[in-house]
Amino acid sequence: MLSTMQDDQLSLAHLLRHGSTLHAESEVITWTGSGARRQTYGEVGRRAAQLANALRGLGVTGDQRVGTFMWNNAEHLAAYLAIPAMGAVLHTLNIRLFPEQLVFVANHAEDHVVIVDGTLVPLFAKQLPQMKTVRHVIVANGDASALDAPDGVQVHAYDELLAAQPETFDWPVVDERSAAAMCYTSGTTGDPKGVVYSHRSIWLHSMQVCMSDSMRIDQSDKSLVIVPMFHAMSWGMPYAAFMVGASMVMPDRFLQPEPIAQILAAEKPTFAGAVPTIWQGLLQYLDANPQDISHLREVVVGGSAAPPAMMHAFEERYGVPILHAWGMTETSPLGSVARTPAGVTGDEAWAYRYTQGRFPASVRARLIDDNGNEVPWDGESVGELEVAGPWIAGSYYGDADPEKFRDGWLRTGDVGKITPDGFLTLTDRAKDVIKSGGEWISSVDLENTVMSHPAVAEAAVIGVPDEKWDERPLVAVVVREGQQVSAEELREFLKDKVAKWQLPEHWTFVDEVPKTSVGKFDKKRLRAAHTEGKLD
Ligand code: ADP
Repeated sequence: MLSTMQDDQLSLAHLLRHGSTLHAESEVITWTGSGARRQTYGEVGRRAAQLANALRGLGVTGDQRVGTFMWNNAEHLAAYLAIPAMGAVLHTLNIRLFPEQLVFVANHAEDHVVIVDGTLVPLFAKQLPQMKTVRHVIVANGDASALDAPDGVQVHAYDELLAAQPETFDWPVVDERSAAAMCYTSGTTGDPKGVVYSHRSIWLHSMQVCMSDSMRIDQSDKSLVIVPMFHAMSWGMPYAAFMVGASMVMPDRFLQPEPIAQILAAEKPTFAGAVPTIWQGLLQYLDANPQDISHLREVVVGGSAAPPAMMHAFEERYGVPILHAWGMTETSPLGSVARTPAGVTGDEAWAYRYTQGRFPASVRARLIDDNGNEVPWDGESVGELEVAGPWIAGSYYGDADPEKFRDGWLRTGDVGKITPDGFLTLTDRAKDVIKSGGEWISSVDLENTVMSHPAVAEAAVIGVPDEKWDERPLVAVVVREGQQVSAEELREFLKDKVAKWQLPEHWTFVDEVPKTSVGKFDKKRLRAAHTEGKLD
């Protein structure tokens, strides 16, 4: 029997209309370096309509891909809304990709138009001649004449192009299962893989982001959107905030600790999300330049494991609780969130909060061992995490890659354990696990323990070949400014905290841990440096 409910489409045009009318006075605030420029959601809605009209004029009449090569700012938000709502597909280009990868993803997605921030024109211009399908480039917040385009590519100035357009658009009804946006993930091997989100997946994911046991975003929030909009859809924050009318603060290109501290002081956001390296940097800055940040009711940390020492530092020294979450580009990205179960307090609560979190109802999870068998959720048995759900990728765009999918489940490449009540603890990425004498050593556990030493700013652990044990851990340590610590002292510090056989004998002190395009420890580069003899 069919239901009697309306078969209404979860289309982003509804979200755009809703946010820009019912929450017309909410704001998007873009940092300029010395101050901010402000737009209301009503204005963003009108800009989105003008952008959609302009894109129509440039031949975007169906599901053409429109790329963005932009920082987090009001113009990027208008693109996030207008492109899917008009029935086209938003393709967020990661500005930090290697040049050949950037060319690959633009060609693979067949981008027809790309919107580029003025400050990024020099970076983009170098790769443009190899982008075979791009016909139009729109330059926002900068000088369009600075872009010397190859034959067959027209360059437009964003403000001029939009000024000539009507402020309304007849948003079409789009099938909720059709493509709304796409984002390429670096992938473990080979070329980047395209993840294509649907209107439906974005809609459901946005509702999840706002739920109380999730990020809890509501109309009273002012969200500082630090996670780049070119990476994993900025963790779904822009759509979620627009859906409920929470104002947004966009840092544009000002992502260093000092400008972030300035933005905090000037705008006093209530919520923010970023990878641990951003928060570690901010923590060091704040320790040297104290400032009240208690206006942040909470900050969400994911992308890499949140070090417990950092969670304590923020909460105990600054009164800001850190909420730990796990996800990946393929999971929209929200997969699990570490909210403490009701009634749990004290150290027991902390133990829950250190985990990668609990799965919401829409995300199903299982752990699979090396023989392809499911392992129990007993909080001890370890396996590779596989997930399924309405906002989880079931395939990659134009790339079968069967390795990543099994019977409709996404193989995450993350290794961990799950408690009977559904809390996930990741011990590693499959490729980062250290196999020593037939036992597994968790690089994440070691990193967190080393980083709990007060003189350590950052620590990254990799496995290095060992004749006797196969692999042994090597710790790359960044010492906090003005402090000193030796390998011997750190070993001593670890002695009562990790099993004896796990105690690393290889230590190296570095100025900086290499980072990936999205600010995570780049263990590939660390391993390569070790192979080339550049690390002891
Ligand atoms: P990549 O880092 O490969 O470019 P993603 O940004 O999609 O791609 O990262 C997803 C991966 O990040 C996950 O598979 C997991 O390994 C890691 N990750 C995300 N959140 C956490 C977390 N809270 N703790 C540990 N690892 C995490």
